[in-house]
Amino acid sequence: MISKTYLPVGLCIYCGTTEPPLSDEHIIPYALGGKLILPTASCDECAKVTSQVEQQNLRGIYWPSRTHMKLPTRRPRERPKTFEVSVEKDGVEVVKDLPIADHPGLHMAFDFDPPHALYGLPPLGMVRTGRLSLRPIAEDNERRLARLGGRVTMRAGRVGYDAPTFARMLAKTGHAYATAELGVGAFHPLLLDAILRNDLSQLAWLVGGKPSVVPGEGRHRITVDIRRVEVGRYSWKSYVVVDLSLFTDLEMPTYTIVAGEVRP
Ligand SMILES: [Zn+2]
Repeated sequence: MISKTYLPVGLCIYCGTTEPPLSDEHIIPYALGGKLILPTASCDECAKVTSQVEQQNLRGIYWPSRTHMKLPTRRPRERPKTFEVSVEKDGVEVVKDLPIADHPGLHMAFDFDPPHALYGLPPLGMVRTGRLSLRPIAEDNERRLARLGGRVTMRAGRVGYDAPTFARMLAKTGHAYATAELGVGAFHPLLLDAILRNDLSQLAWLVGGKPSVVPGEGRHRITVDIRRVEVGRYSWKSYVVVDLSLFTDLEMPTYTIVAGEVRP
């Protein structure tokens, strides 16, 4: 992943306020190893909302990966030394507290269909659904499972996870990256209601998956381009589209985020 610090923005890229204090924005969460920084780009109020969405994912779906891989954390003392699993054998369920080295953890992420906007569809208010994508974390995962000798259910993760919350985190990353690359005001942003007001009705329209990995190098990869989409007979829209591969090295899913529209 390239590391880059952009020029300071000097206003909140979410609500537009220029009122200080404005904090630096990590385009991909710091806790996932993100190294793209947009300085002075978020007011306190918006930062509260976006970091809450990030925390839900970091402490939910990404919690096992972050712990096993020792990804960066600002709260090292909260990093667990053990994970619970429940093991069912002969109809009896036992909860075991395993050291990380013995835990048969799984990398998790959602896998999505492409966003509906790229098919030329209008917003349909559909719920963003997804499939859970799972990969064993340790190479000796089978052995770790076999040692437990029963049907194993994971209990890792401090909070639950769901597809819309995951898509909201992607929306934030897409909006921040498109703004960093193209500039404030260069496009009409489409994701602000989803990011700031938890409006889930547009997530399936604007945030989805992509079948192929983003070309390039490194664990996380991100690109932005303008895509012309036919929305009707002789009618086109130019969308600002961000492609994002998280954890390419683990063969995790790739995403497409429609961050906005360019108007002629
Ligand atoms: Zn703001």
